[in-house]
Amino acid sequence: MSQHKTPDTLQKFMFDGAPVRGELVELSDTWRQVQQRRDYPPAVRTLLGEMMAAAALLSANLKFNGAIVMQIYGDGPVRLLVVECDGDLQMRATAKFDAEAVISEASLLTDLVNLNGKGRFVITLDPKDKLPGQQAYQGVVPLDGDSIATVIEHYMLRSEQLDTRLWLAADGNVSRGLLLQKLPSTGGVDAPVDDDLATWDRSVMLGSTLRNAELLETDIETLMRRLFWEETIRVFDPQHPSFRCTCSRERVGNMLKMLGQEEVNSALAEMGKMSVDCEFCGQHYAFDKVDCAQLFVATEVLASDSSVKH
Ligand SMILES: [Zn+2]
Repeated sequence: MSQHKTPDTLQKFMFDGAPVRGELVELSDTWRQVQQRRDYPPAVRTLLGEMMAAAALLSANLKFNGAIVMQIYGDGPVRLLVVECDGDLQMRATAKFDAEAVISEASLLTDLVNLNGKGRFVITLDPKDKLPGQQAYQGVVPLDGDSIATVIEHYMLRSEQLDTRLWLAADGNVSRGLLLQKLPSTGGVDAPVDDDLATWDRSVMLGSTLRNAELLETDIETLMRRLFWEETIRVFDPQHPSFRCTCSRERVGNMLKMLGQEEVNSALAEMGKMSVDCEFCGQHYAFDKVDCAQLFVATEVLASDSSVKH
């Protein structure tokens, strides 16, 4: 890997003197790692890549430090799309699709995941340091639009009462996105409401000049200059999203424990060992008979004396 490679970047900015904020994100290495060992049809790849950009943009926008998980359970040729992004912008993602289906490159969101109107899109917001009794917040997002950007814009307006516009694009190399958001107007002498609205309208108009091809081909620094060169903009320190999978041997072991000893033993009798590949990173985990026996012995010890610590 080249030393001078630009890391993946998320850039927040604010329009000076108006409650309009924006973010640009560029995922290249993160996005490539998601695609490793996978061969997604182009339409599925585009959708997953756009969800990645959207998840990073929304995550950086949260009022708390925590994770965002986007899940689409499709009823079309795409069965499942999952994107996770934590408070440090560490991300992973995966998609499952019908390998038999012919998926046209021009497929819209509806064709892919909501063919019979039974697709489900769930966004989970999970604060890292939960207050007592606090739970993850889960919202069902109506799949009422032809693109993931439109669907999320509707969701943000309904759930957060925030006017949000998103432009997303992804191909095999890069996933990029722009978010613009109108914050509640503070009013007052310095920021008359009419001026705030004018700034918002102008920013959206500038964003709307962005074509998909331009978003794919242009780095975010150039995009920022090209779109907003006439505006006075405050730019924050850039953040750097990266790929990270949270799978571990311990987690796979816990999953096997949940299957139960009987189930595991019968699978062992048939196959000799338990093999599990991580859906997100492809990491291979194998548990032979001894490993499996140890899993259940450890459980029994804990169950008979909960004070035992290892
Ligand atoms: Zn993994």
